[in-house]
Amino acid sequence: MDVSELLDGLNDKQREAVAAPLSNMLILAGAGSGKTRVLVHRIAWLMQVEHASPYSIFAVTFTNKAAKEMRTRVEETLQSPVGGMWIGTFHGLSHRILRAHHREANLPESFQILDSDDQQRMIRRLLKAMNIDEKKWPAKQLSWYISARKDEGLRPKDIQAYDASEQLMLNVYTAYQDACDRAGLVDFAEILLRCYELLQQQPTLLRHYQQRFKHMLVDEFQDTNSIQYQWLRLLAGGDNNIMIVGDDDQSIYGWRGAKIENIKRFLKDFDADTIRLEQNYRSTGTILKASNALIQNNSERMGKSLWTDGTQGEPISIYAAFNELDEARFTVGKIKSWLQDGNALTDCAILYRNNAQSRVLEEALLQEGLKYRIYGGMRFFERQEIKDALSYLRLISNRNDDAAFERVINTPTRGIGDKTLSHIRDCARNESLPLWYAAKAVIEQQHLTGRAATAVTRFIELIEQLDEKLVELELAEQAKTTIEHSGLLAMYQAEKGEKGRARVENLEELINACGQFELPVEEEFSSPLQGFLAYTSLESGEGQADEHEDAVQMMTLHSAKGLEFPLVFMVGVEEGMFPSQQSHEESGRLEEERRLCYVGMTRAMQKLYISHAESRRLYGQEKYHSPSRFLRELPEDCTEEIRIKTQVSRPAATNRFSASVSHAAFEDSDFNLGQRVLHAKFGAGTVLNYEGVGAQSRIQVNFDDVGTKWLVTAYARLQAI
Ligand code: ATP
Ligand code: MG
Repeated sequence: MDVSELLDGLNDKQREAVAAPLSNMLILAGAGSGKTRVLVHRIAWLMQVEHASPYSIFAVTFTNKAAKEMRTRVEETLQSPVGGMWIGTFHGLSHRILRAHHREANLPESFQILDSDDQQRMIRRLLKAMNIDEKKWPAKQLSWYISARKDEGLRPKDIQAYDASEQLMLNVYTAYQDACDRAGLVDFAEILLRCYELLQQQPTLLRHYQQRFKHMLVDEFQDTNSIQYQWLRLLAGGDNNIMIVGDDDQSIYGWRGAKIENIKRFLKDFDADTIRLEQNYRSTGTILKASNALIQNNSERMGKSLWTDGTQGEPISIYAAFNELDEARFTVGKIKSWLQDGNALTDCAILYRNNAQSRVLEEALLQEGLKYRIYGGMRFFERQEIKDALSYLRLISNRNDDAAFERVINTPTRGIGDKTLSHIRDCARNESLPLWYAAKAVIEQQHLTGRAATAVTRFIELIEQLDEKLVELELAEQAKTTIEHSGLLAMYQAEKGEKGRARVENLEELINACGQFELPVEEEFSSPLQGFLAYTSLESGEGQADEHEDAVQMMTLHSAKGLEFPLVFMVGVEEGMFPSQQSHEESGRLEEERRLCYVGMTRAMQKLYISHAESRRLYGQEKYHSPSRFLRELPEDCTEEIRIKTQVSRPAATNRFSASVSHAAFEDSDFNLGQRVLHAKFGAGTVLNYEGVGAQSRIQVNFDDVGTKWLVTAYARLQAI
């Protein structure tokens, strides 16, 4: 491809950025202005024009999916493969460096990644050992404390506790870190910090990478936290160049330590030039105008303007639902007509503030037979049965993995009770041993009753036998054998109902996943299993479902960053949900929520629906919410209110943003849509729909336990509750 083609399809400003001389640069621009596109073309430009080798390119993206996409797009642009290029997330790239230099980083070759669940389990165990009341000091809170300190680059020795509470948290941090180090485990925050320290303490290694990665590029820079910034600064500290792209209006991870100020800091520390892009190519004029108006309510902005020469498009539709079920039904209805109009499901996304909101939407999609895929949330590799199976595999490949040991020693139950476990834990603590070896010691020292000793011995034998068996097998067979011989399969087969079935299917899917797993050639793993375990920890969630299947995309607003879809639904846009309740309490949080709303809206290319529900059952409670203040901030000429006609009567037309709407009852029944009712046989449920009159009338109820049913109203004998 010749050079002019590389610059085709770019506007003047974008060209200026792509073809800039080698220097440090910031591309600061609003949503949809082509920042990511510029980054891709820049990489191609570096290779084509500057004759950079793929080995000299190091690009950081926000998700593994984005990394994959970037690689594909560069290959498409250059029409040749770019194998040696490093593209990945901060975590993925750091992990890769740690794997390659585990010895220098003081990690065993088989080191494993601890996810947040395992992390909390481990902390809980330490709390018990340290006689700290978990009710007062929830493991979750402590894990946040530890991760936040690591994100700031702080080890316990760097921290001065300012009071007794912090001293206690600090003690837990210290004990936790010791335990992780002993077991060869790293949590997410540790991956980065450990890699940073490694590079800092090994000048030769650092120089090697600085010389290798002559060209560094970072997307979504506005969401880097302290340690990520320091890490970049270290790596880009030689005579290499770094180009970052970002948008201060899209900084949405402040709650996790991201610092918008890093943009300004970058300009100073790297003596960088700024290029601004102002033309938006993604959204209709209406969507863009509304998003711009919204974000203008924020005070601390670096200031940017965005325009488009595209069409005005349709107004943003705002739907006031009775409740979350009505909202889901509405959304799914619109998706169905989108599909019937000949569009693809993949082109449509449902975005929500909290993961828990997905379930009702999932049910509604399932009911209509529409396929969907969830990014994040209850990810495949985080599901209980999958974690059980993975824990067996982890323990088999690393006996020091205490978290895995804890998870499976009595799953399925094999008569190893709390008492036995606390013997083992005591021994582990007293003799500074991993639990596995402590278990062996406890048996040798005959501290256990006969039955307990037999049970533990059997468990140890099971793991050792499995270890032996697996040596000969391929990865998929390894998983299959482990799932069967551990007793997990039988345990979940015995679990009744839909849930048990789903779990067994998930286990089967895990074996499939192993079969499909390709060991990355460029990374150093001691075995395919090692590679697979690292992959499950790093990639959980992304690409979980079949990527090629046409499916509605569902995700939280946070995970929608950087993506775009022709049709977007933002659901649950209500005070208390979005902006979230907590954002009222902390300063700066409201502006961050508004940025999140801006991110959500600017994902939409052609059409945007925003809905809010008057009442919502979430976490088992019915809540009444008024529409979000963000809706009031949208210009009136950009929005329209929609009302749909169904068989049921709707509430009287109300002011779009009024806080409460009275439910109009069905024409001739005593029930309201969304009302909770009780049925003698099916239990409690929520009224979804109603049709017909008099003796013919039928009512649709979504029962908590048995799902949705149509009932003849006259016989249903529903009671209002
Ligand atoms: P975000 O801030 O959401 O990450 P972004 O600034 O990275 O957005 P891109 O995703 O790179 O924006 O681009 C948005 C859309 O505009 C993409 O579909 C891209 O292909 C298209 N686009 C970018 N530049 C041009 C251009 N010069 N001509 C035509 N289309 C363009
Ligand atoms: Mg982008």
